[in-house]
Amino acid sequence: MPLSSSPTLLVLIALLGACIGSFLNVVAWRLPRQESVVRPRSHCPRCGTNLSWIENIPVLSWVLLRGRCRHCGAGISGRYPAVELLCSGLFVAAALGQSQALGEANPMLVLLGGWLLITLLLPLILIDLDHLWLPEPLCRWGVVLGLLITAIAAPKLLLWHLLAASAGLLSFEATSALAEKLLGKPALGLGDAKLAALLGAWLGLMGLGISVILAVFSGALFGIAGLLSGRLKRGQPFPFGPFLAGGGLAVWIAGHGFWLQQLSERLGWSAL
Ligand SMILES: [Zn+2]
Repeated sequence: MPLSSSPTLLVLIALLGACIGSFLNVVAWRLPRQESVVRPRSHCPRCGTNLSWIENIPVLSWVLLRGRCRHCGAGISGRYPAVELLCSGLFVAAALGQSQALGEANPMLVLLGGWLLITLLLPLILIDLDHLWLPEPLCRWGVVLGLLITAIAAPKLLLWHLLAASAGLLSFEATSALAEKLLGKPALGLGDAKLAALLGAWLGLMGLGISVILAVFSGALFGIAGLLSGRLKRGQPFPFGPFLAGGGLAVWIAGHGFWLQQLSERLGWSAL
């Protein structure tokens, strides 16, 4: 039975996504500060009061509390409910999506894989936005899990995904070294190379290639819009990881075929 024909199931998936998003907010805050992601319980960063379950409901609590701590009135960033909504939407999209990264694998495994990929990529996006840093352990675990899922769900593709992970790492490291030589300063972080390896492990060579194309296009658009609007100064670094991870999610959810068609229609790449 296709998931799209069961609204109840989709609502449950949306709720699951929102709860995972709530956890990922905690991960993105605590991991760079080297704090445990399970202990202590969620608390207000200003007054330190532990949050009760009613203050911990994704999206709803923030709306009911009007974005303020109930005890000290400190503002709570609107990013928290935004991430919860985003994660919820991505979980539903993965359930309705057309991932082709694992070939003809069991749809249930593909769905679980997609949710795991979202769970890995969202904190990487948030941490890169905040700190211009992609934590190596998270990238490394991402590569291992991507290869593991491929080995279980689509063993025939394992070698290709392994190759794609290596190709992602090496080509980004080479580009980074070349850019540094040409520009005289670091232009592309080495974290991006590890993220490219992660995407290769999950999406294979073709998926990684499309993700990079999407990332370069959207990153360039963002850069130009930032310069024109004055929000970005010339030479000011901005993280590339969110674009790369976003490209990877777009490829997983919509499928290789969709993007290849878009690219060939828009750019006249008949060779694709
Ligand atoms: Zn407080």
